[in-house]
Amino acid sequence: MKRLIVLGEGTAGTMAVNKLHRKLGSRWQITILDQNDRHLYQPGLLFIPFGIYQPSDVTKPRQRFIPDGVEFVLGEIEQVDADASEVRLADGRRLGYDYLVIATGTAPRPDQTPGMLGQQWRRSIFDFYSLDGATALARTLASFEAGRVVVHVTDMPIKCPVAPLEFTFLAEAYTRRRGMRDRVELTYATPLPGAFTKPIASAHLGSMLDDRKIHVESDFMVERIDDEAKTLISYDEREIPFDLLVTVPLNMGAEFIARSGLGDELNYVPVDKHTLLSKAHDNIFAIGDASNIPTSKAGSVAHFSVDVFTGNFCQHVGGQPMTGRFDGHANCFVESGDGKGLLIDFNYDREPLTGSYPVPIVGPFGLLRETAANHWGKLAFRWLYWHVLLPGRPIPLPARMSMAGKHGPDRSKERS
Ligand SMILES: Cc1cc2nc3c(=O)[nH]c(=O)nc-3n(C[C@H](O)[C@H](O)[C@H](O)COP(=O)(O)OP(=O)(O)OC[C@H]3O[C@@H](n4cnc5c(N)ncnc54)[C@H](O)[C@@H]3O)c2cc1C
Repeated sequence: MKRLIVLGEGTAGTMAVNKLHRKLGSRWQITILDQNDRHLYQPGLLFIPFGIYQPSDVTKPRQRFIPDGVEFVLGEIEQVDADASEVRLADGRRLGYDYLVIATGTAPRPDQTPGMLGQQWRRSIFDFYSLDGATALARTLASFEAGRVVVHVTDMPIKCPVAPLEFTFLAEAYTRRRGMRDRVELTYATPLPGAFTKPIASAHLGSMLDDRKIHVESDFMVERIDDEAKTLISYDEREIPFDLLVTVPLNMGAEFIARSGLGDELNYVPVDKHTLLSKAHDNIFAIGDASNIPTSKAGSVAHFSVDVFTGNFCQHVGGQPMTGRFDGHANCFVESGDGKGLLIDFNYDREPLTGSYPVPIVGPFGLLRETAANHWGKLAFRWLYWHVLLPGRPIPLPARMSMAGKHGPDRSKERS
């Protein structure tokens, strides 16, 4: 019997074991590991600071999503010994494998920016990329009345690169709704030259920030935070004072990846971007945010790529060439406040364009345009996530990006 170990029972790992268990059946011993026993629906973290979701809306017991016949091991991964094909846990347990899938995602690392974890952490400096951070921020926002609010991205790549923009739009709507917009100065500080990584979407999203009178501080690479003066300071010595800082700390892959010699400088596992097979080891794949593929780190990418990965995995272990080629397909709803949102759809080569999704003309979702349907799509996604995506059930959306229903120039090829 062959042994497969999947590291991380997050979005990608859970979908992968469900799909692989169905394909491989009882011929394989499949084990999935995680350091805690509750699955977190991370897109829901966006809504917690504004009281729209409660913590209980975004977590469920992991065991519920693991199919019968797949073993769940609770424990912290300490190291992978790829030469010995063995996973070591912090409590000393050792698990051998024939094939390994790394799906340990990426995590916020406030410890990597001097001053971030000082006196003001969770007083006037918050993150919303963790359940604790989003919950603490909800308490502070509920009593916030006036001042300088800075939404800040430390460096790219981060998971869900639109989430800080969504937070900014929601914060703007929140201050208007609570009658304090004229007493709140909003700034969006980003290391990028504009609002987003891709030019057409960046122009759209940038003009939405302008319309809402949100100041954008672009190319802002933070060097440190002066805790006492409550000021962000960049390498080029610009300063941004704040009363409330909502930051997305540097995102990094898990530390055991560095300890195991399996990662790049941010602990992401180098893989072939089309097959997701490790560049260094023929029996290791990396899926979801844990890999270094050059597309957004997003649940949608995890979903589309796992569809391709499962077919490839079965071919690879059967000694056949892998025929699936992941194209970097990502799509993300962008909540924009006042019951509206946008949708963006793109891949390695094509940037987000206007149009309709998934059905040309009919939609129901509008690409790069604010609609109520997109907002309802974003809210409905939580149900879809728990009941369809995580259990690995099929949905009628192709893994490859389609150009049907899209308009406008695709200039990505000209630029690359
Ligand atoms: C605020 C926010 C909003 C988002 N919104 C969207 C959105 O609207 N749309 C979208 O598509 N995506 C969104 N995302 C991104 C999406 O949630 C992630 O891209 C997705 O969850 C990645 O899945 P993954 O399986 O790669 O990693 P994860 O789901 O993060 O899972 C990794 C797992 O590995 C485990 N792990 C890590 N290290 C160890 C260790 N040493 N030992 C044991 N276990 C370990 C963790 O406990 C975790 O369970 C959002 C993310 C955030 C934070």
